[in-house]
Amino acid sequence: MENFLALTMADETPPNLEGRGASFHWRWLARGVLELTPEVASTRSLVLSAGIHGNETAPVEIVDLLVRSLFRGELTLRCRLLIIFGNPQALRAGKRYLTCDINRLFSGRGAQFPACDETARATLLEERVAAFYQQAGADRWHLDLHTAIHASYHERFGVLPQRSQPWDAAFLQWLGDAGLEALVFHQAPGGTFTHFSCERFGALACTLELGKALPFGHNDLARFAATHQALYALLSGEAPEPHVDQVEQYRVVQQITRRSEAFVLHMAAHTLNFTPFRQGVLLAEDGDERYQVQKPTEYVLFPNPAVAFGLRAGLMLEKIT
Ligand code: ZN
Repeated sequence: MENFLALTMADETPPNLEGRGASFHWRWLARGVLELTPEVASTRSLVLSAGIHGNETAPVEIVDLLVRSLFRGELTLRCRLLIIFGNPQALRAGKRYLTCDINRLFSGRGAQFPACDETARATLLEERVAAFYQQAGADRWHLDLHTAIHASYHERFGVLPQRSQPWDAAFLQWLGDAGLEALVFHQAPGGTFTHFSCERFGALACTLELGKALPFGHNDLARFAATHQALYALLSGEAPEPHVDQVEQYRVVQQITRRSEAFVLHMAAHTLNFTPFRQGVLLAEDGDERYQVQKPTEYVLFPNPAVAFGLRAGLMLEKIT
């Protein structure tokens, strides 16, 4: 099972569906879904996902390295672990998605789209995550690893789902130790994988955006070293190298939504994530609807005028640190 990624890419079912590793018992649950249960008693249950977007390959390579370290016995597992390669078909095609973006389909939102392989995949992932957390204690984490489409003022950052309870300080500290320069807090529900885990199972969940997407084999994994090391430490139940720089915090203050053919986004296609805009600036128009900067300064995240109707064409943020 050391070659879990290769099996996933080839769409092969392994000859044995479960077995023993050096420090854990493993079960292959579905294409791209592998559960590892440590031999030592552990309180934490971690969902570690990558490849929800098929062109975001660097995080898949990082998870593959961790799987290999575990199966070779170089790394002793000290938490329950569910490893997920999110969209194997899109990974194979080297595309973000084939029919629809899986990371908009969770928490039942898939029902709003025509049924396709990706709506089915989102449902399967929900079922596997639910079964995994049902056997978990209260210490539940979900780290969903991505790379951003856009270049960014913060090369690595995390996006955290809306959460009614306060965030755990040790979790936020770990995200900084994993090399994130900024954290963005959502204030409203969404269709993302991490929102699903947080809302339904109370998991401490974060979508990690780890730099720019490149094809398989073209990623400079040295740029992801801090994240790789922090994950390695997390799996082995140790504290990561502490991170000293301040992590900037932002919250979402408005969402720009493309509703019609008339939609115009008033910023260049290559606008960097976290580019600031002053109060009053017109950001986008959609027929009679106008989006303007409300706060003294707002920062744009994920600007993308080409999304389907009804979907997010950008988020506007306010700095809270
Ligand atoms: Zn992504």
